[in-house]
Amino acid sequence: MTVMKDGATPVRRQYLKIKKQYPGAIVLFRMGDFYETFDEDARIAARELDIVLTAREMGKGNKVPLAGIPFHALDNYLGRLVNRGYKVAICEQTERRDNQHGIFDREVTRLVTPGTLIEPSLLQAHANNYLVSLVVTTEAAGLAYVDITTSEFAVTQMTLERLKPELERLSPSEIIVPEGTEAALLENAVALTPLDSYDFEHEIAEKRLLEHFGVLTLEGYGCQHLPLAVRAGGGVLNYLAGTQRAVLAQLGGLTTYATDSFMAIDAQTQTNLEIFKGARSGDIQGSLLGVLDLTRTSMGGRLLRRWFGQPLLDVDALVARQDAVAWLLEHGLERSRTVSLLSETADLERLVNRVRGGVALPTELSSLKKSLALIPEMRQTIAGTGELDWLKEALKPQREIVALLEAALADVPGSSYGEGNIFRAAFSEELDQLQHTTRDSRQALADLEHTEREASGIRNLKVGYNRVFGYYIEISNAQLSQVPERYIRKQTLTGGERFFTPELKEYESLVLNARERLIELETELFQRVCAQVSQAAEGVLQTARGVARLDVFSALAEAAARYAYVRPALTTDDTIQINAGRHPVVERNLEDGTFVPNETQMGNRETQIMVITGPNMSGKSTYLRQVALIVLLAQVGSFVPADFAIIGLVDRIFTRIGARDDLAVGQSTFMVEMVETANILNNATPRSLLILDEIGRGTSTYDGLSIARAVTEYVHNASAVAAKTLFATHYHEMVALAGYLPRVANFNVSVVEEAGKVVFLHRIVPGGADKSYGIHVAQLAGLPRAVISRAQEVLAELEGAAEDSRSGRWRYRSGAPQLSFLDRESPVLREITALEVDGLTPLQALTTLYELQRKAKENA
Ligand code: ATP
Repeated sequence: MTVMKDGATPVRRQYLKIKKQYPGAIVLFRMGDFYETFDEDARIAARELDIVLTAREMGKGNKVPLAGIPFHALDNYLGRLVNRGYKVAICEQTERRDNQHGIFDREVTRLVTPGTLIEPSLLQAHANNYLVSLVVTTEAAGLAYVDITTSEFAVTQMTLERLKPELERLSPSEIIVPEGTEAALLENAVALTPLDSYDFEHEIAEKRLLEHFGVLTLEGYGCQHLPLAVRAGGGVLNYLAGTQRAVLAQLGGLTTYATDSFMAIDAQTQTNLEIFKGARSGDIQGSLLGVLDLTRTSMGGRLLRRWFGQPLLDVDALVARQDAVAWLLEHGLERSRTVSLLSETADLERLVNRVRGGVALPTELSSLKKSLALIPEMRQTIAGTGELDWLKEALKPQREIVALLEAALADVPGSSYGEGNIFRAAFSEELDQLQHTTRDSRQALADLEHTEREASGIRNLKVGYNRVFGYYIEISNAQLSQVPERYIRKQTLTGGERFFTPELKEYESLVLNARERLIELETELFQRVCAQVSQAAEGVLQTARGVARLDVFSALAEAAARYAYVRPALTTDDTIQINAGRHPVVERNLEDGTFVPNETQMGNRETQIMVITGPNMSGKSTYLRQVALIVLLAQVGSFVPADFAIIGLVDRIFTRIGARDDLAVGQSTFMVEMVETANILNNATPRSLLILDEIGRGTSTYDGLSIARAVTEYVHNASAVAAKTLFATHYHEMVALAGYLPRVANFNVSVVEEAGKVVFLHRIVPGGADKSYGIHVAQLAGLPRAVISRAQEVLAELEGAAEDSRSGRWRYRSGAPQLSFLDRESPVLREITALEVDGLTPLQALTTLYELQRKAKENA
């Protein structure tokens, strides 16, 4: 081992030099069949990957910690490191040798970060993996996102208020920002990397974008006038240039988008409405997307998820989506043909990018071919429809690529080079010849076994091969005496001896040389085919995007057919009318036909606010969410679970649901509730939809009730907010609001009592509830009988006290709860309550009314 002056071996010095260039990353240093880690990296790797930490002498007295992983297990270990937030630099050894020291040259070929993964096993098929770049000022933010597996690259600029929902929608796995960006703006952000702010400066970033696209102006990309978007976009390219040079070429297009052309859905609403994740399962199970995602391809799955995150605000665009869904719904035969073609289609987007990235396998190329070969039939299936003609245009069949791959690849290509089973015969003359030579030599070797047996008379003589010793003739100990003289000894085993002959040696070198050349040639041919496919990559991506759309449309049509959804009429006025609406997820969990449909009729001029009272478990929350989900589905372009619906598009859906502690960020239940409510009141517009499921429950009754009432009055009276609102509450006193706020209407969930038992009908009917059934529900939940009967006693006492109380504050069940709240101290009220209205003549009634009015005025 050569040792340098400082005591380190050349390899050690090479390692230290490379490590210095990647200080923030764990360097996986390729040495033969292993990736080794050294020093602190080795300690981290040993701990995180559960592998052995050893030490290696790398120069005199220079023992360094070392931990290694076998090269073929890279994906698995890489995934574990990246998922735990580490960056990993993969350092490969090249073919070249450093002449001075005779060691392999090495270079970092990839810096793997959470936002730049390409390994299929580490990616979710139905979700994008976004790397986001952000430039934030005191007034606005610029954002760029990239998915290097699908070539998506987009930029936007927005107000700060829009930033959080947009980040929540994208759910990036890595965010880069210029150094000095205030961390508070990005609380809880994942894998946040501050980078040299120079890379995000306008001039530098713009130059990078212009050079990347080879243009003189960014006008064609629509972001020329958006300096923060340009800074974020150039910043992300600068980052990739430093870490993933190879993928830059895959970013062939740039989209500029505006967040306000979509309905913003904040994280709270995503969670409350269980759009992407079911509350119980924590994954797609039990979520809206879980019910609606009947897509057959990963591309379609990703697109549907994106559509759910970006409901549209444009009637025309939505009608175009609905038309496509409607056609597929009405044409069942074509739909099932489309669905079965889609089921056979691979992830074209990611495949073509793996080809471009030089990491695709022969089998992947083959599935690219098979999938593209289905396109003409897909086009045929939707041909002549009118509604889908535009989509047919997007489905370019990529015939040249299919023809190329058809001519090149074997029907079932093998997965490793050198076996001669990747390419089709006649694709390359040299390849065919080599195959012949190999086959002939192999045959000759097989024949040799026979001839040598005959010649020597040794019946169990065997010709064999192993990687270390090459070809040999093996003879067991019992027959050693019969070994011919021309045999040359090669290796001794316990049970026998191995020999070779000049003839065997000759065949061996023929076979081995041919194999070596075969590997070389197959690799070369494969790369050439990949390069040709890469040239057409943009076209394939266009087709892939067409397939994704077709997949989403047929999934939505399939859902509409399977679950009996209808096409909602969409309008720009402020009406929401839903006849026999259902909750798309809850109805799926109930037996067929047991979900009780409900009506909704709201508008900014009439029923702007629905106050819904009713016992626990009666279905208030379900109803509230059902209205929100139907609106959301309508704005995705989907059909909806109802018999009939007119949906006036809404700009945002806000939700404030239940009481939950956010202890992770140190906020009490009530604080969380108020922060959420403040956010709603500060941002809602008359075009928004508000879902308020309990407000003010986290504090004392009077505080809570006062806040709930004030909030409702504000939403009703403040013209800048005045949003359509569904408000479910346990406070029966809220019923009174309808008495003096003209656009508030009361509803309750009907309940019947049969033989002392409470039956929930789950039907929303006009009017306020006059009774709560908390104790019944407690009984249903299995509270001990003693507790239930004591609670009934206490309730009776409280109600009695309320009757007696002059203040009237506790008259929850006095028959006029709303008034008890509105008018706490009122002899007039008691007089009214005591009146026998039925016994009055019209004249008496009028006189009494005058009298009451006089008293009321005196009291006021
Ligand atoms: P709480 O006040 O305790 O939150 P709630 O009144 O909001 O209760 P939900 O949670 O909406 O009640 O509904 C309780 C259960 O009732 C649901 O899980 C569902 O099984 C059933 N349910 C609700 N609505 C309907 C409906 N329309 N048809 C059939 N079952 C329903």
